[in-house]
Amino acid sequence: MSPAGRPLVEVEGLGKSFLLRRGVGLRRTRRELQAVVGVSFTLDRGETLGLVGESGCGKTTTGRLLLRLIEPTAGVIRFAGQEIQSLPERELRPLRRRMQIVFQDPYGSLDPRMTVEEIVAEPLVVHGVGDRAARARRVRELLDRVGLAAAHAERHPHEFSGGQRQRIGIARALALEPELLVCDEPVSALDVSIRAQVVNLLADLKRDLGLAYLFISHDLAIVRHLCERVAVMYLGRIVELAPKERLYREPLHPYTQALLSAIPVPRPGGRRRRIVLAGDVPSPLDPPRACRFHTRCPHAMEVCRRVEPPLVAARPGHQVACHLHPAPGGAVVA
Ligand code: SF4
Repeated sequence: MSPAGRPLVEVEGLGKSFLLRRGVGLRRTRRELQAVVGVSFTLDRGETLGLVGESGCGKTTTGRLLLRLIEPTAGVIRFAGQEIQSLPERELRPLRRRMQIVFQDPYGSLDPRMTVEEIVAEPLVVHGVGDRAARARRVRELLDRVGLAAAHAERHPHEFSGGQRQRIGIARALALEPELLVCDEPVSALDVSIRAQVVNLLADLKRDLGLAYLFISHDLAIVRHLCERVAVMYLGRIVELAPKERLYREPLHPYTQALLSAIPVPRPGGRRRRIVLAGDVPSPLDPPRACRFHTRCPHAMEVCRRVEPPLVAARPGHQVACHLHPAPGGAVVA
């Protein structure tokens, strides 16, 4: 919680639809793709919330909406108590310094023509922070902070490995001393051998700088290592949100149970019964009615095809959207 007792981030009923146009002339059709629907969560200062789910479930779109890199079509986003979902760019600008993003692709996210110094200093230049000498000092501090050498400042991105490039991206994201980092699959493009190094760097930065992370990933083992709470998304909706230990020990939603059943057990001889879901993820252009998971759920009932289950607090701090777990007292979260 913030000193004033509010979370750093509050998201209520967040939604994003894209209008897709196909064909030409009289044959032209328009269809709505609901990428994110009714998403609600909070994030405290210094907290890491994991956002997990299969490709196309809306987790990257949610991260970008949070930073207003794309515009929401519904809902409220509060940052440090201030509503930002419709703030004009001029008023949003000072807040942008306080929330930054680390992208998935350390190859595509760095301009190959720029030196590392220019890349890391760019946010300082854009926001008019310091003179040239002060920015150069800050760049070297940041490189040291992420485990790179001052001499690397003069080089270009192609001279670095994937892990080192991601360190450069992290240094750039830290340049303006943000309070929130949206980490969008920050290690999924890296070799397995260096993923742990970058994850440990993110853990150290969080501890030392008090950063809050929205950590977007499909890797449930990494999320377990890094996050305090975890939200599970399916076809644009949050279907379960709980403290990490509770979610991994006792998942309530059948989709979360299936996801977790696929994680290898680290103990020798350890076994977990794998739940194999039927079929593919349905198209978000034509999602199933009512419970969006009913076409693949091994526990689907008649009511699941008729009535959408709301996200409810099944237990204190543990929210789930499933008819198998009605809210005690009927309290609906979203
Ligand atoms: Fe399965 Fe029904 Fe729960 Fe949806 S609401 S997850 S179909 S049991």
